[in-house]
Amino acid sequence: MADQSFQKPTGTQDIHGRYQDYFWKIEKVSRAVSKQYNFEEIQTPLFENEELFIRSVGEATDIIQKEMYSFETKGGDKLVLRPEGTASVVRSYIENDFYKKPQPVKFYYIGPFFRYERPQRGRYRQFHQFGLEILGVKSAALDAQLIQALRSIFKELKLEVIFSINSLGDENCRPEYKKKLKKFLNKNKEDLCEDCQRRLKENPLRVLDCKEEECRKTIENAPQIVDHLCKACNKDFKEVLELLDELGLSYELDPFLVRGLDYYTNTVFEIFTEKEKLALGGGGRYDGLVEMLGGRETPACGGAVGIERVIEAMKKAKIKPEKEDKRVFLAQLGDSAKKRAFRLFEEFREAEIPVYETMGRDSLKSQMARADKVGAEFTLILGRQECIKNEIIIREMKTGKQETVSLDKVVEEIKERL
Ligand SMILES: [Zn+2]
Ligand SMILES: [Zn+2]
Repeated sequence: MADQSFQKPTGTQDIHGRYQDYFWKIEKVSRAVSKQYNFEEIQTPLFENEELFIRSVGEATDIIQKEMYSFETKGGDKLVLRPEGTASVVRSYIENDFYKKPQPVKFYYIGPFFRYERPQRGRYRQFHQFGLEILGVKSAALDAQLIQALRSIFKELKLEVIFSINSLGDENCRPEYKKKLKKFLNKNKEDLCEDCQRRLKENPLRVLDCKEEECRKTIENAPQIVDHLCKACNKDFKEVLELLDELGLSYELDPFLVRGLDYYTNTVFEIFTEKEKLALGGGGRYDGLVEMLGGRETPACGGAVGIERVIEAMKKAKIKPEKEDKRVFLAQLGDSAKKRAFRLFEEFREAEIPVYETMGRDSLKSQMARADKVGAEFTLILGRQECIKNEIIIREMKTGKQETVSLDKVVEEIKERL
């Protein structure tokens, strides 16, 4: 069929051009800052055993019930495209005996994730996340460091964000709170949405997460977990907040923040843009997860950020990613100059000075127009005359000032001016 044309699957996008500039910028900053905080990169497979996510994320979540891309291989394995990052990192920690390394083990990851979500603005079925995980040591200092590292990334991106923070307690205090909450919600059952009436049975905490107006109103009067923390949890939460205060990090306490997943304990957080309250990501402590997935008892915490969300937020805040740092344009005129320009381009490349060119074009006018368009600071002009004299013209684009320098010295000369 000659007239057949293909379209990308719903909820995916081809990332290129300006969007790719944003992407590149966020990736670059995330990597650099993670390294500053001593995180090491980890890449896990894009697909994993289905059971890994059912056991970790929790059967009663939307992710498991509606959003997983599951498939059976020809060999009969039940696999899914990974819907989130933490479970894979924990699986890897257990499988590779990372508990034998000096603790804590700190990982960052960046890559695509997959959820079969209803297509809507800013939501993709293949989306990208950047995440940090710290495993092996329980300390409020690590919760604070995790949050601080994430804040540093946003600071570097010049995005104003605010952290919402809560504590979910632990196995000592949460069951008691859950009971109280359940009792309260049962009393107000008629005021809850249909979904929440179901959630009430499976996991009452998740009702606190509901975005429906009717539920929000009811929840306002619900008992708050921070008032029901045991001594140890209370102390831990206080310590985290004190450290954040020490760092001058702006946060707000949200007594009803529970996060969508089952595995969180103690401190949990979400990140929003300061003005529009656009949700960018979140995370928290998950002390029980390693054991839940078959490892030894291992405290841990982590957080992740949606890259597409961050791009949207940057665009709204009119923050532009800088172009890749190319400030020099190389223009050539005539056959001999073109040949020499090819060599010169390599000389610049070896000196690690990125240079724009349009070797495929011959007219000087169209090359100069291109130099203008890419915003080059300097244009190097190499014509027949210059070639013979072993010289080249440096044109400063802003002022139009031109001067001629020796071809042998032009790399050095440009290096000094940049
Ligand atoms: Zn509801
Ligand atoms: Zn507790």
